[in-house]
Amino acid sequence: MASFNELGLSENIVRAVSEQGYTSPTPIQLQAIPAVIKGGDLLAGAQTGTGKTAGFTLPILQRLSTSANAPKDKTSRRPIRALVLTPTRELAAQVEESVNTYGKYVPLNSGVIFGGVGINPQIKLLKQGVDILVATPGRLLDHHQQGTIDLRHIEILVLDEADRMLDMGFIHDIKKVLAILPAKRQNLLFSATFSDEIKTLADRLLDNPAMIEVARRNSTVEIIAQKVHPVDRDKKHPLLAHLIKTHKWSQVLVFTRTKHGANKLVEQLIKDGIAAMAIHGNKSQSARTKALAEFKDASLTVLVATDIAARGIDIDQLPHVVNYDLPNVPEDYVHRIGRTGRAGATGEAVSLVCVDEFKLLADIEKLIKRQIPQEIIDGFIPDPHAKAEPIQLRSFDHRGGGGGGGGRGQRPAGNGRGQPARTPGKAAAPQAAKPRPAGPRPAVKQSAPRRSGSRGNG
Ligand code: AMP
Repeated sequence: MASFNELGLSENIVRAVSEQGYTSPTPIQLQAIPAVIKGGDLLAGAQTGTGKTAGFTLPILQRLSTSANAPKDKTSRRPIRALVLTPTRELAAQVEESVNTYGKYVPLNSGVIFGGVGINPQIKLLKQGVDILVATPGRLLDHHQQGTIDLRHIEILVLDEADRMLDMGFIHDIKKVLAILPAKRQNLLFSATFSDEIKTLADRLLDNPAMIEVARRNSTVEIIAQKVHPVDRDKKHPLLAHLIKTHKWSQVLVFTRTKHGANKLVEQLIKDGIAAMAIHGNKSQSARTKALAEFKDASLTVLVATDIAARGIDIDQLPHVVNYDLPNVPEDYVHRIGRTGRAGATGEAVSLVCVDEFKLLADIEKLIKRQIPQEIIDGFIPDPHAKAEPIQLRSFDHRGGGGGGGGRGQRPAGNGRGQPARTPGKAAAPQAAKPRPAGPRPAVKQSAPRRSGSRGNG
C-alpha cells in the first residue's frame, strides 16, 4: 500500500499526518498530492468524506514551505500566498483547522475569515499576516473593499466545493475575486458534481489541468443501513420522537427541507423532552457553533439541519441520520446519509416518507440504483387513501440554509440553492408529487426495536 512518504511530502508534513493516525493516503490524496506539488492546475471531482481537504492542504503546505520565498518562522510578517474559498462558514473553519493541524511542524500559518462575525479580529489577523487564508467569498470581498486585505501575492487558489458555491449564488463573488488575484497562479478546483456551470467555470479558471475523479461515495451508500418508514404527513414528528425514545438514540442528525421546518421540529422535540437544536443560515454564528459543539460532545441529542447548513459538518461515525423530509435533489440524499458511516464505521440512515414524497423517493432509488427497504412502524400505519399534496418548498427558506457570505443576500430565489438552474424542470418548482405508479411497495412490518442500544456514540 502506498504511504504518505512516497508522495513527495516532507518529513515535517508526514509527521503531522501520522499524528492524526492516517497511515495511507485516500484515492483522492494519492492522485492530488503529487499533481499539486508538480505545480499545475487541477480539476478534482470529490465529495466531502473522501479526504479531499488533506488532498489539497498537504501539497499546498509542501509547496509554500519549500519554495525560495518560504518564511523562516511562524511569526514574521508575510503576504497571503494561498487562498482557499469555501461555500460555508463551517467548511471554512474546518478547512482552516486542517491546515493548522497538518501545518503544525512547518513555519507557515493560516487564518480564516467568514461573514456573520465581527470583522475587526479578522482585520487584526490579516495585519499580522497569514500564509494560507481560508475564506467565504462575501467576507473576502468585504475586506477587499475596505482595503484590509492584500491579495497581490497569491500563488495558489483553491475553490472548494465549487458546485455548492455556484448553487448558493456565489458566482458573481467568485468572478470578482478572480479579477483581483494575480494572473499567474496555480488553480485547484474541487467539486462533487460537474454541471455545465462548473465546466464553464473550470474552462475559464484552469489552464491545462490535471483531472482527477474519485468514485462517488457509492461505497458509503453500500455500508450504510438505509430504511424508509412510510408515515402520514402529520405523524412524522411523533414517529421521530418514538424512534428516538424506543431505540435510545443519543446522537441524531435530522434533515428538514426548510429552515422553518427545522425550527418547528426543534420546538416539538423539546416539548417531548428531547434535547434538540437547529442549525441553518438564519442562526447566528455563535448559535451554530454552540449547537455543533454540544452535538459533537453528545450533550445534545438531536441536531436539525437544512442541507446547506449541514455541508461541511464533519463528525466521524455519526450513528444516525434521519431524513425528516426527503431532499428535492436526489444527490443531496447521498450527501446526507454520507454523514454516517465515515471512516469505515457503519451507520444507519432512516427516511420518514409521506405520500407527497413517493416521487422523490423513486428518484433517489434510481440514483443509488437500489430499493430502500421499507418498514411500517406499529402505531404509525399510513392512511392508504391519503392523497399526495404539492410539497411546499420554500415560503420560509428563500435564502437557503448555509450562510457564509456575511449576509450579503446574493442567493437566488427559487429554492435558495440555484436549483432551477442546475436541474431545470426537475423537482425545482413546487410540484405535485405523484404516488409511484404501483403505489408504495409492500412494507416489511416490524415494530420491535431492532437495534436498541446496539450502537455506542461518543
Ligand atoms: P474530507 O473529505 O476532507 O472532508 O475528509 C473526510 C474525513 O477523512 C476527515 O475526517 C479526515 O480527517 C479524514 N481523513 C483524511 N485523510 C485521511 C486518511 N488518509 N486516512 C483516514 N482518514 C482520513
